[in-house]
Amino acid sequence: MKQRLFTPGPLTTDPRVRDAMLRDWGSRDRDFIALTAELRERLLAVAAGEASHVAVPLQGSGTYILEAAVATLIGGAHKLLVLVNGAYGRRMVTIAQRLGRSVEAIDWPENHPVDPDAVGARLAADPAISHVAFVHCETTTGILNPLESVAEVVARAGRHLLVDAMASFGALPIDLAATPITAVLASSNKCIEGPPGIAFALVARPLLQEAAGRSPSLSLDLHAQWRGFEKDGQWRFTPPVQVVAGTVEALRLLEYEGGPPVREARYRGNLTILRSGLEPLGHRLYLDPAVQGPTIATFAPAADRPFDFAGLYERLADRGLVIYPGKLTQAETFRIGCIGALSEADFRELVAAFAEDAAAPT
Ligand SMILES: *Cc1c(COP(=O)(O)O)cnc(C)c1O
Repeated sequence: MKQRLFTPGPLTTDPRVRDAMLRDWGSRDRDFIALTAELRERLLAVAAGEASHVAVPLQGSGTYILEAAVATLIGGAHKLLVLVNGAYGRRMVTIAQRLGRSVEAIDWPENHPVDPDAVGARLAADPAISHVAFVHCETTTGILNPLESVAEVVARAGRHLLVDAMASFGALPIDLAATPITAVLASSNKCIEGPPGIAFALVARPLLQEAAGRSPSLSLDLHAQWRGFEKDGQWRFTPPVQVVAGTVEALRLLEYEGGPPVREARYRGNLTILRSGLEPLGHRLYLDPAVQGPTIATFAPAADRPFDFAGLYERLADRGLVIYPGKLTQAETFRIGCIGALSEADFRELVAAFAEDAAAPT
C-alpha cells in the first residue's frame, strides 16, 4: 500500500526523487562532484543568495546544521539571544549551552509569534548580545514568526541573525538579497521535499571567512566544510551520495513547480482542505489563522466526545494515511503536515477518512 505521510518530515517524496537515488556514485567521481556543485548552486538560488552567501551542505539531519552553525559562528566572546516560542527554539538554547556558549532567551507562549519590538528593546538594553537566533516556522505548532521585521530590528541594532528555516525553506520565500540574514539553516527533507540525510547553511561570506578554527568540533565545523568544497568540490567525509542525488532532483522539481511562492500556495491549499474538512467535525485549528504558517497545522480535538489519538492514528495508518501527534505542553492536540509530494486528492481522502471514523459506531 502507498504510504502517504501527512507529517512535518521526512515526508512523501516524488517518484522522480526516489528514482534519482537508484544508482551508486563514488564520492570522488566527476559525476558526483558535479551533483554537489549543482546542489550548492541551487540552494543559493532558492533564496537569491548568490551574491552574498555561500552554501555549505553537511551530512546529518537538521539539528546537525544548527549545532554546526552555533559552534562555528558563535565564539567564546560572543553572546546569543534565542527567541523561543516552541520546542525548536528551545533546542537552539540547549545547543548553545552544551557548546558552552553564552546564551539567553526571550520566551513567548507557543501560540504567540515572537515580537520584534521586544527583541529591539532587549538588544538596546544588552550591548553584549552579538547574535540573535529564531525559528521561522515553529513546527511545534505551525506558527509563522515574522522573518522580515525581526531581521530588520536585528540589522538596525548591528547584530547578526541566524534563522532556523527548517520548516520554511523552499516554501516560504526568503530573499537574501533584500533581507539582512547572516545564516539560513535548513535540511533536505522538509519543504524541499527531498529525502532525509543532509542539512545545509547559507552563510554570509565574510562571517564564515572569519570563523576559521572556531568550532570545537571536527565534523561540525562549517568553515572547514566550506573550505573543503572550495578546494576540490568534494565533501570532507563520506557523503550520503544517494541523498545528495535525491535532493538535487527535488530542487530541480521545486524550480519546475515555480519556486517557493507556488509551493507555498499549494501548501496553503492543502491547509484549506484540512480546515474545511476537520472543523465541521469539531476539531479546531489551535492557532489564530492570522499566525498559522502553511507547513503544519495543529488541531485541538472535538471536545464533545472522547478523543483517542492512538486508535485514530492506527485506523488511518491502516489506510496508508500517516498523521502526527501533537507536541504541545499544555493542550491535547494532533498535527497534520501540509507538505510533501501529495495531491489535493490525498488531502480530500484524509479528511473523508476522518469523517468516516467520526461517524463509525464506537
Ligand atoms: C525538523 C526541524 C528541525 C530539525 O530536526 P531534525 O529532527 O534534526 O531534522 C529543526 N527545526 C525545525 C523548526 C524543524 O521543523
